[in-house]
Amino acid sequence: MSNYRIALLPGDGIGPECMDATRTVLEALVHNTDGLSLGYTAHHAGAQLYRETGETLPAAVLADCVAADAVLLSAIGLPDVRQPDGTEVQPTMMVGLRRALDVHSAVRPVKLYPGAPCALKDTGPGIDFVVIRENLEGLFASFGGGSRVGDEVATDTLVITRRGTTRVADFAFRLAQRRSGRPRDGKKMVTSVDKANVFQSMAFFRQVVMDVAQQHPGIDADAVYVDAMSLYMVQNPWDFDVLVMENQFGDILSDLGAGLVGGLGLGPSAEIGDEHGLFQPSHGTAPQLAGQNVANPLATILSAAMMLDWLGDKHRDAACLQAAVTLEAAVARLLKEGQTLTPDLGGTAGTTEVAAAVADLL
Ligand code: ATP
Repeated sequence: MSNYRIALLPGDGIGPECMDATRTVLEALVHNTDGLSLGYTAHHAGAQLYRETGETLPAAVLADCVAADAVLLSAIGLPDVRQPDGTEVQPTMMVGLRRALDVHSAVRPVKLYPGAPCALKDTGPGIDFVVIRENLEGLFASFGGGSRVGDEVATDTLVITRRGTTRVADFAFRLAQRRSGRPRDGKKMVTSVDKANVFQSMAFFRQVVMDVAQQHPGIDADAVYVDAMSLYMVQNPWDFDVLVMENQFGDILSDLGAGLVGGLGLGPSAEIGDEHGLFQPSHGTAPQLAGQNVANPLATILSAAMMLDWLGDKHRDAACLQAAVTLEAAVARLLKEGQTLTPDLGGTAGTTEVAAAVADLL
């Protein structure tokens, strides 16, 4: 019997509701899975905590996140809770947590489930690609740094290192190995998304991705400029399998990807390092929806499925891997049946009803 301890950070806004829904579903999943047990430690962290105590992520909470087998986070931040310099607390907390866990690769699947609303008229052979965002450097390396000269000039520096790019590229090729290739013809491929025609840093990024490609001869490697990729994601997304890119490019293109396949309420994410994994929906705290039982919990539930997949892969645990497949299949079926969906997907069901429906399907 494998037993994993999950640190839970329900956070702010719609975060706690989405987390409660996900726990309901995980409890049903564990109940129906032989050989899998999950324990939880839930913590206060985020903007509301900052309002009350002046801290977003107390040291003891961070230490527990580092000690846990995985971290499941719902959403952090409230627009009216600001630091003395006027910025929101969420970026400071998230960058600190990412750096402490050393989660170098962020994974955002862009998958069109039958029944989910699609922004495209023509969905061709289907949409199923993954955005891999380098998660610790790029433009975000400048976070907490940058410079401002009076009222006239401000700068941030984009940093690309061989080590950071090698780690994320290697992750992308390994992921491509596990996947079934692009929808058009099943070809397994990794595409470097960059701006190598203009910037030294981006030419270097592409070069390192191609160096890593040499170690993965079974996977095709190619490269596309980021501006062209935003066109292709809308025109022919079925031609892509795994896209790897710098941090800020990944931040932007992963939201475009979520918009293609049903919106933020359906967008899960995983942030993976050599030791740790952090899982959270792509959406924020949507404060105007909080407390009304209307938030879509499926992005958090799908993030939990990614967590089980990562735990199962890391620990060579067949029961955990199977639980991930079962959970994703239950969400896919819920979407296909279309009976119990939240308003963002055109339904009238509440957050708790969606959770109960997924649990029933399990
Ligand atoms: P952040 O800056 O924290 O990423 P954001 O300002 O981009 O957040 P979100 O909170 O992600 O905004 O949400 C943007 C809009 O998308 C919300 O106002 C809401 O309408 C919709 N939305 C996001 N998540 C959900 C969800 N889980 N269920 C329903 N609607 C959602």
